[in-house]
Amino acid sequence: MHLAPRIAHIAGTDGDGWGIYYRTREMIRAGERVLNLTIGEHDVKTDAAILTAMHGAAMAGHTGYTFGAGLPELRAAIAGRVQARTGVATRAENIVVTPGGQSALFSAHMALLDRGDTGLYCAPFYPTYPGTIRATGAEAVAVATRSSHDFQPEAAAILAAASGARTLLINSPNNPTGVIYGRGTLEGIAGAVREADLWLISDEVYDTQVWESAHLSPRALPGMAERTVVIGSMSKSHAMTGSRLGWVVAPEAVVEAITLLSTVTTYGVPAFIQHAALHALAQGEGFEATIADPFRRRREIAARALAGSQAIRAIPSAGAMYVMLDIRATGLSGNAFAERLLEEERIAVMPGESFGAPAAGHCRVAMTIPDEDFAEAMARLAGFADRLLP
Ligand code: PMP
Repeated sequence: MHLAPRIAHIAGTDGDGWGIYYRTREMIRAGERVLNLTIGEHDVKTDAAILTAMHGAAMAGHTGYTFGAGLPELRAAIAGRVQARTGVATRAENIVVTPGGQSALFSAHMALLDRGDTGLYCAPFYPTYPGTIRATGAEAVAVATRSSHDFQPEAAAILAAASGARTLLINSPNNPTGVIYGRGTLEGIAGAVREADLWLISDEVYDTQVWESAHLSPRALPGMAERTVVIGSMSKSHAMTGSRLGWVVAPEAVVEAITLLSTVTTYGVPAFIQHAALHALAQGEGFEATIADPFRRRREIAARALAGSQAIRAIPSAGAMYVMLDIRATGLSGNAFAERLLEEERIAVMPGESFGAPAAGHCRVAMTIPDEDFAEAMARLAGFADRLLP
């Protein structure tokens, strides 16, 4: 059977890294107690009031086709939110609603990349990134960041990779590292992007999970609004992963191109979900803080549990629901560490290698289990690592 090379190209040659995740699921299904720190998803469900709004909208008849870029009132609400949070003038015409942030990432790259082009992304990376770029027919090229620089992208590395590139994808607060790109980093990125004449695609789906300083959108830097495309989502900010509600913020021509793409792919997001999103956004920042709070608490728990460890250096988690552990002092790879941790302690973490070469010798901890279990997992993980020291 012939498959189009373009679709075969999506998989690429990166290792998949999901072995631990699938094995953990099997063990849990078989009734074993495994402390599962692999999943980037809240341990709370979507709030009942949001579901009531969704049900109400469906019962009120919002069950038909929804062509186009999204409900005008939702696009306006998202534009208002973006403007309030970033200070950048943003109109409903700058917003297109998509089925989740992942669809927004795909749509943005489809609008800006073509076969034969190169799309850049920073490594360590969220695992869908290279495949998303390759799905357009373009080549995906990683720009390495360094653990010793707390995984902050460096302008020189971007420029060194920029020949033939049209886009650069960044993510702050970052999955998997939990770092936030500070003003200096973002100004360096913006300078490199302007010099190499790239589009900047800024994945800001964790922008409400910020534990240190403040979230800064690169779209707010001078001269950047016209070459920046921002990816947003309700998944993380409102615990609505399954509702599939995301958006793109972009110059109008990009929004129009993505709207055309949605007509031949998704036909838009169901109206009852868009109404639920409107309801959720109207709950304001207090609600968003409640959703983010467990991760803020657990980040402290992790810091306390790891403070005395000789074997682990935790990259300070400034945002998102993750903490990245440098375990190279144990002499093990991230893969070997994660395998043995699962085997010997029944604790599951993601090997750094599954997020790209710069995260080798690291593990990603998702802070997504209840506080008490999380505290137990971190204490046992620290003890396990220290026992591996020579
Ligand atoms: N970007 C990043 C960095 C993510 O971690 C995720 C989800 N884990 C997404 C995008 C996609 O999220 P969604 O499609 O649910 O909005």
